Amino acid sequence: MPIDFHRSWSDEDLELYRDNVVRFIETEMLPHDEEARKNGHVGHAIWRKAGELGLICADIPEEYGGGGGDFRHEAVFYEESARRGLNGMSTSVHAIVAHYFLNHGTDAQKREYLPRMARGELVGAIAMTEPGAGSDLQGVRTRAERDGDDYVINGSKTFITNGFLAGVVLVVVKTDPKQGAKGTSILIVETEGCKGFRVGRVLDKIGMKAQDTSELFFDGVRVPAANLLGAQEGQGFFQLMSDLPYERTIIGVSALATMEGAYEATLGYVRDRKAFGKPIADFQNTKFKLAEIATQIKVGRAFIDRCVEDLVAGKLDTATASMAKLWGSETQGRVVDECLQLFGGYGFMSEYMVARMYADARVQRIYGGTNEIMKEVISRAL
Ligand SMILES: Cc1cc2nc3c(=O)[nH]c(=O)nc-3n(C[C@H](O)[C@H](O)[C@H](O)COP(=O)(O)OP(=O)(O)OC[C@H]3O[C@@H](n4cnc5c(N)ncnc54)[C@H](O)[C@@H]3O)c2cc1C
Repeated sequence: MPIDFHRSWSDEDLELYRDNVVRFIETEMLPHDEEARKNGHVGHAIWRKAGELGLICADIPEEYGGGGGDFRHEAVFYEESARRGLNGMSTSVHAIVAHYFLNHGTDAQKREYLPRMARGELVGAIAMTEPGAGSDLQGVRTRAERDGDDYVINGSKTFITNGFLAGVVLVVVKTDPKQGAKGTSILIVETEGCKGFRVGRVLDKIGMKAQDTSELFFDGVRVPAANLLGAQEGQGFFQLMSDLPYERTIIGVSALATMEGAYEATLGYVRDRKAFGKPIADFQNTKFKLAEIATQIKVGRAFIDRCVEDLVAGKLDTATASMAKLWGSETQGRVVDECLQLFGGYGFMSEYMVARMYADARVQRIYGGTNEIMKEVISRAL
């Protein structure tokens, strides 16, 4: 009997929802992925299509235009795209942005932005990182100065996911440079027709080729004071920190689903491919490697499922979520590397999913807080 990688948090309704997600991914995402990888972005149409089908903002309440589900619905989308090596649409960053609105926005801000995000009309991005400030976000230099009823933003951001397609960007700024964390705020910037806002290059990455990662420039960008997320200055750091378990669980979920996808593809390949007169699946090394990988996945499933359940129950702590990100991304790197080895030279060819998964896996240890920062966070809870 094949190994059962059943999810403890799933149920019949979620599996029906999964069927819809799979249909969308296989008919709308997969056939256009090669083109998206060439362009460096997926374009706007697919976002709107996903919105029409109710597949984005799945865990945002219906009163704000969302699907009214919970994190498990989001997880289904991350899993089914990750297991197919698809990451052009960062529905995860989109969801993270939606959650900033949901958890910290004023009611007017929620009503203004969430329904448009759920329809896929506005793609969301969060701009924290700057050329001089990544892990150490207290070093952010983008400045927002109050001028009458407006804020005027000057500065630049880099490595921003969804940056090229974004219709709404949450920009981490200094409202009071004399203070560290307490001088940090988040401003809402709508990009269309925004004077002084410019998207730089779609950055040339070693992986995640279909995902638009961009530089953003703010040169005297003027936004109304009402665009301060949560309407109170100096809350930016607190807002960023409080949503970390959500963001880090997403990375753990997608890491594990990538491992499952790589494992299944490898199993199929080694059964077909022959060397020395027999399928390479018959060599003891192949069997042992796959046995080790299946064990990692099965053990990981127990931990990641627990994180998903705790997140849905509102009791996942930051240290455990950081473990999901740390363990998930490190294991993903090793597992995908070992799968690639079993493909021989074909594993190094970009047309093979396992090759793309190998390149895509690397950044999982870097973004969402580097794995060194994860260890810092975990060690604080020892
Ligand atoms: C594809 C991609 C997408 C991204 N998407 C976004 C996005 O949407 N929005 C956004 O704001 N940012 C985004 N980022 C940026 C990402 O979050 C940062 O790259 C990351 O936080 C690290 O910051 P840095 O690159 O400045 O590296 P640095 O902070 O300069 O770190 C360099 C090295 O030093 C180590 N280091 C730093 N501090 C410590 C410490 N205290 N102890 C031990 N080691 C330490 C780091 O772990 C790392 O190994 C993205 C990055 C990439 C590559």
